[in-house]
Amino acid sequence: MTPLIQPFDPARHTEFLRDESLRSGKADSISFPLTESQVRQVLTPLFDRQIPVSVQGSRTGIDGRAVPHTGHILNLSAMNRITGMTFDPAGRYCLRVQPGVILADLNRQTASRRFEDAGQWDRTSLAVLDRFQNDPLPWFWPPDPTEDTATIGGMAATNARGIGVHAYGRARQHIRAVQGMDARGTLHVLDRGEDLDAFFVGNSELRVITELTLTLLPMPSQMWGMVFFFPRPDQVFGFIDRLIANQHVSEDTGMAAMELMDGKTLEILHGFKKEHPSFRSMPGVNPAAAGAVYLELHKNSEEAITDLATQLMDAAKQAGGDADASLAATDHADLSRIRLIRKAAPHAVSHMTACARQKDDRIYRLGYDLMRPDMSVSDQIQMLDRDMADAGMTGVVFGHAADSCLHVNLLPENHDDLITAKTVIRHWAGREKPGMNPNSKTT
Ligand SMILES: Cc1cc2nc3c(=O)[nH]c(=O)nc-3n(C[C@H](O)[C@H](O)[C@H](O)COP(=O)(O)OP(=O)(O)OC[C@H]3O[C@@H](n4cnc5c(N)ncnc54)[C@H](O)[C@@H]3O)c2cc1C
Repeated sequence: MTPLIQPFDPARHTEFLRDESLRSGKADSISFPLTESQVRQVLTPLFDRQIPVSVQGSRTGIDGRAVPHTGHILNLSAMNRITGMTFDPAGRYCLRVQPGVILADLNRQTASRRFEDAGQWDRTSLAVLDRFQNDPLPWFWPPDPTEDTATIGGMAATNARGIGVHAYGRARQHIRAVQGMDARGTLHVLDRGEDLDAFFVGNSELRVITELTLTLLPMPSQMWGMVFFFPRPDQVFGFIDRLIANQHVSEDTGMAAMELMDGKTLEILHGFKKEHPSFRSMPGVNPAAAGAVYLELHKNSEEAITDLATQLMDAAKQAGGDADASLAATDHADLSRIRLIRKAAPHAVSHMTACARQKDDRIYRLGYDLMRPDMSVSDQIQMLDRDMADAGMTGVVFGHAADSCLHVNLLPENHDDLITAKTVIRHWAGREKPGMNPNSKTT
């Protein structure tokens, strides 16, 4: 075996047996390659010996897909360099990155227009960088799965969706090309979005992304955020259903995000803010509200964004929103603060799961992405609440309301709850029509 392949050492490597689902697996060996050729040096001997390989990025996945079951862990977090820049025929800047680049690092370097590894870039990339640094427009990479420590490779593999999914779509839409290896170490070079899907979809064989080319977009000049709180559940759903019926949420209208948080989510956020210093700058939420809706508006003129914000405020008021409690952010710093309300929700769930796990280490995170475009948001929530109540379970519901993709997280307190929660999730999955939910998985 190559020296890149280290024996699994419980004293140093235990964290690599887990991801954010908090499920735990096992492995015999582990590697942290730095280059594509090192990935091949790892894969080829393992393939010859028929040793199973589990690929990892940052292990922020919440569904246990980065948890190894046996064999080898191929962890790509050390392949974390931005290696070049090009300008595509459509007039967009593209960044070439290794798969272990973390989203927060990509965003920070893109926003500052300074790339830490530019000293090693080729001449063509440096010429494009010069143009980029002198471009009057700010540019950004839109995917944002709410967890800034996710790797770009992990986001591509899961085709991550995030808060801005309505306006910008999923991660692969912003990837122009990938290089990846199969289990034998054979390199595949794909340079169209469709090929990228084919590389993953319906393919049970191992695929390791070793390089990606990301397409940047010009950042809208105006980005605002708003949060509306509602005293009664029917008011929250009435507001959401009305915005959907009026086709308010899309790239064309400039409304980039519409995220629901149910009353139980607000309740756990209230407690979480007090306990977690990293979320102290998050504005306070009323734990007694029946629900809240986070809206993000992206426009290119102040007049247009003011018009849209006014329409939304009127709609929230008509639906019964609590005008005194509502929040608005019209600059970048305030936007980052109120976005935390939505970003904190999955972290609060992780925290509650970790607390329950301290009492019973068989507990792990149990979430499900419900996708029922055939049902209104209010019908979905009523169904989820009824099924959880019938099973004696507690859970929180939040997520992308506009395309009817809600995350539901059940909160088991002991092992019996966990078994019940799995039955409830299987029941939901069983009611989906085939093809309705590309994320569907029973856990
Ligand atoms: C608080 C929180 C909020 C989140 N919110 C969202 C959300 O709103 N939307 C969303 O989509 N996700 C969300 N996630 C999930 C998560 O951030 C994504 O799944 C992320 O895209 C995975 O990146 P990763 O580097 O952590 O991958 P990992 O968790 O390490 O791996 C995830 C999967 O990708 C595969 N993989 C990783 N790297 C590669 C590679 N180079 N080549 C081939 N396969 C690879 C792994 O084998 C595994 O199957 C959230 C997670 C947390 C903790």
